[in-house]
Amino acid sequence: MICPKRTAELITLHLAPFKDTDPAWEIGVSKIAGRGIFTTRELKRGDIIFRDSPLLIGPSARAEDTLNSCSVCFKMLPDTKFMCRQGCGLPVCSLCGKKQQHKADCTLFKSWKPCEPDVANSLLIRLLCVGRAINLSKDQRDLVYCLQANLDNNHRTEVRNAAKGFHEFPTDKKLIEIMNRTVAVLRTNGFDETSDRSNDNQEFLYRALFPLFAIMNHDCIPNSYYTFEDKTRNMIVRASVDIPAGTEVTTTYTKLFTGNIARHLFLKMKKGFTCKCSRCSDSTEKGAFISALYCRDTNCTGLAVPETTGLPHPNWNCLVCKQKSTHAQMVKSQDFASGAISSKFNSKSLKSVVLYLRDKSSSFIPDSNYVVIDAKLQVIARLSKSREDCGDEEAASKAKFCEDLLEIMDKLGLGDCVMRTYLETEKAKEVK
Ligand SMILES: [Zn+2]
Ligand SMILES: [Zn+2]
Ligand SMILES: [Zn+2]
Ligand SMILES: [Zn+2]
Repeated sequence: MICPKRTAELITLHLAPFKDTDPAWEIGVSKIAGRGIFTTRELKRGDIIFRDSPLLIGPSARAEDTLNSCSVCFKMLPDTKFMCRQGCGLPVCSLCGKKQQHKADCTLFKSWKPCEPDVANSLLIRLLCVGRAINLSKDQRDLVYCLQANLDNNHRTEVRNAAKGFHEFPTDKKLIEIMNRTVAVLRTNGFDETSDRSNDNQEFLYRALFPLFAIMNHDCIPNSYYTFEDKTRNMIVRASVDIPAGTEVTTTYTKLFTGNIARHLFLKMKKGFTCKCSRCSDSTEKGAFISALYCRDTNCTGLAVPETTGLPHPNWNCLVCKQKSTHAQMVKSQDFASGAISSKFNSKSLKSVVLYLRDKSSSFIPDSNYVVIDAKLQVIARLSKSREDCGDEEAASKAKFCEDLLEIMDKLGLGDCVMRTYLETEKAKEVK
């Protein structure tokens, strides 16, 4: 672990443009892991804890249909002629083409001689965020190196694969090391693979590294949430709940509505740690029962929950009759419900999904289960765009579904977050 003091110095330099003379946060040694961020004073729900700006940012270029997003402002450009005419191999809009940022990107990429500069190549475009690390100042680079990086076997593949798209990609070991390290830091702490950070109903067209945010530790019931300013892409982190002075500020790396088993697995595989938060050590998940299924004994009305052993296939216990079951025995009923819901979705009739969730599914699977939650989220999203084949009555279920999910959030003890705002807004649209 790099000392919290040096990290704090570098972060302070990075955040200097915000001129925050009395920060509500400080970096300290965390009980969760390594360093963390702590409040320096009492904060009320909704208060800003800090702002952060991206130290590195670039297009995520994950999907073929987003390759025509400008590499500087990320605006979507017309389908043709969006590539820089100078031959750097990057998409850029006419306005940004004249900006300092693109001039630096352009010089860098042209010096590596892209093999097909007129063709949008996702590997090359994705590399921009990483390549920009080369042009950082020494303090900024030190800050990248201060951040945690899981240096697993895969972190070198990105640069190696992108290199094939250039005739004269650098062979200098130091430069390659900077890029590989940046990839690892981005993968560990950045907004990169959308799945890693789509936790709170936000998706990203770009990959980016927000250094102060990167230091924040995880909790499955975070006490902060973040939003972005449209123009600057700066991040604003706010208190989800009232936070006493000297408390560690946490965020979540997982989706809010996944159950204990899935979250454990994700955190273990993708983030390399075992979460010991209050939700993870409670088999009922604070009484929200997001993993719960009905007891296997058809005469028992109890709920069965998985043990919090952290194993991928834990044993389950009924909370009423105490019957013990294996994971395989329990997930059968979940797989059945999940299959039934999927087939309704595949039928293309939204009405049939709504009716199933409203009247049928709860006889196979508790309404609190994440399979049902996920389906309701999909219905809410679709109904917010169009009614499809739904009549008044089915469309009205949207408000009810929002309410169901908000109730689950309350049980979990989740305060303000983007998901809550979204559900409240969608609910309010129906209740007039
Ligand atoms: Zn632009
Ligand atoms: Zn260019
Ligand atoms: Zn946890
Ligand atoms: Zn039972």
